[in-house]
Amino acid sequence: MSKSNWDYSIFWKETLNHLRSELSEQEFVMWFNNIDYAGSTEKKIILSVPSSFYRDQVKERYLTGIEKILHNLSGSNIEIDFSIKKINTTPVSSNPKQKKTQSAAKKKPSLPVTNRSYPNLSQDYSFDNFVVGDNNSFAANACIAIAKNPGKTYNPCLIYGGVGLGKTHLIQSIGKYVYSNFEDSRIVYVTAEQFTNEFIQSIKENKQHQFKNKYRKVDILLIDDIHFLQGKDATQEELFHTFNALYDSNKQMVFTCDRPVSELKNLTDRLKSRFERGLNVDLIPPSFETRIAILKKKVEEKNVLIPDDVIEIICQNVTTHVRDLEAALTKLIAYADLLNKEITVDIAKHQLKDMFSNPKLNNITIDVIQRTVADYFNLTPNDLRGKKRTKAIAFPRQVAMYITRELTEYSTTEVGLEFGGRDHTTVMHACQRVDSKMKADPSIEPYIRNLIQKAKESGTKS
Ligand code: ADP
Ligand code: MG
Repeated sequence: MSKSNWDYSIFWKETLNHLRSELSEQEFVMWFNNIDYAGSTEKKIILSVPSSFYRDQVKERYLTGIEKILHNLSGSNIEIDFSIKKINTTPVSSNPKQKKTQSAAKKKPSLPVTNRSYPNLSQDYSFDNFVVGDNNSFAANACIAIAKNPGKTYNPCLIYGGVGLGKTHLIQSIGKYVYSNFEDSRIVYVTAEQFTNEFIQSIKENKQHQFKNKYRKVDILLIDDIHFLQGKDATQEELFHTFNALYDSNKQMVFTCDRPVSELKNLTDRLKSRFERGLNVDLIPPSFETRIAILKKKVEEKNVLIPDDVIEIICQNVTTHVRDLEAALTKLIAYADLLNKEITVDIAKHQLKDMFSNPKLNNITIDVIQRTVADYFNLTPNDLRGKKRTKAIAFPRQVAMYITRELTEYSTTEVGLEFGGRDHTTVMHACQRVDSKMKADPSIEPYIRNLIQKAKESGTKS
């Protein structure tokens, strides 16, 4: 049966009219201006949507209502099916429909849309393929809220956390979402390093004006890895002014950093206070369950067959970054591909033995570190977690905090909590103290290295 025999476009148009009268203009524009009628079959209308995130949201919010309206209009049960539009990297102004949206939405006055090119974003990152788990749900939800309402909800927003935990994935997902859903918005995504290099280049070439123009006239500025700005005074100064210009005109800014802003060194206080404005959210290493969910998603994306027990053994052993989980998977897939073998638990154990035996990637816990350090100083772990601040306990406690920061991905806030609910500044101070003691007294470093080694060994055994 050819598609044209089932043209339900008129029903869809009428459904839109109903929805328009029921929803606020903002809500209607947000969810329905980007949906196109893509065809029908006997019992279905196919709608094309910008992303699967969008599809899921529309399904959850409106599907029942839409199907009811369609039923009333047609007298039969017409279902809705969604297809995902390909990301459009060509200028959107060529699409008359989208031009109309721009005026209907009355969103942001901006440059002519023909000037809008696809921002420097990787195709790999979107909300669709980001697994939300206990370690990242606050950050992920904040990013989704920002993407839906840029400049209005949480501005600025800073996402911080250790390496490989999804900062770049999230910040880029915001860019991608906004690009697909707000067609007149200008989005700039850069790493702090690129920002710095461009700034330096603009000075060399006497093009500061262009530089300022580029960064101060965006709707969304996304800067990844701002820890790179430490010690770069002139770039900090420039970013400070960029920040103020954008902030004053309610333009959205999102930054990522590998630690809380308070722990950054050589960053001016005024810039720090800007980053700390708005919302700061952290990412911590994923729990076992979330690791399983992430790995399963990656397996699905790569369209390979990996038995559940193999996934489990990887997740039991690779406990820090998502990036390491991916690396483990990539290695196994390459092995299986090259040797044309099925992946089994034994193969996984053998192929990944280096990753599995590296204690940094293993189940080294704060508990193990506290026990190791306490043993060495003839104390108990409770002494390290307790309130006493006598010299005999204070220094070992600082050493244990230092080693925890060395060997794990816990933030200073989390370490503080594990050491009797102490403040993160106490942990920072402890690490600095141990560091300077090691530098001042050469006899200290070897025993701390030795303790680190012991903690690693206990971590591997437990
Ligand atoms: P960061 O910028 O924090 O160092 P990335 O965003 O580069 O980390 O993440 C590292 C890798 O892990 C990327 O390939 C990313 O897609 C993946 N990743 C991280 N967190 C998740 C998650 N929750 N769901 C799916 N993939 C994730
Ligand atoms: Mg990153």
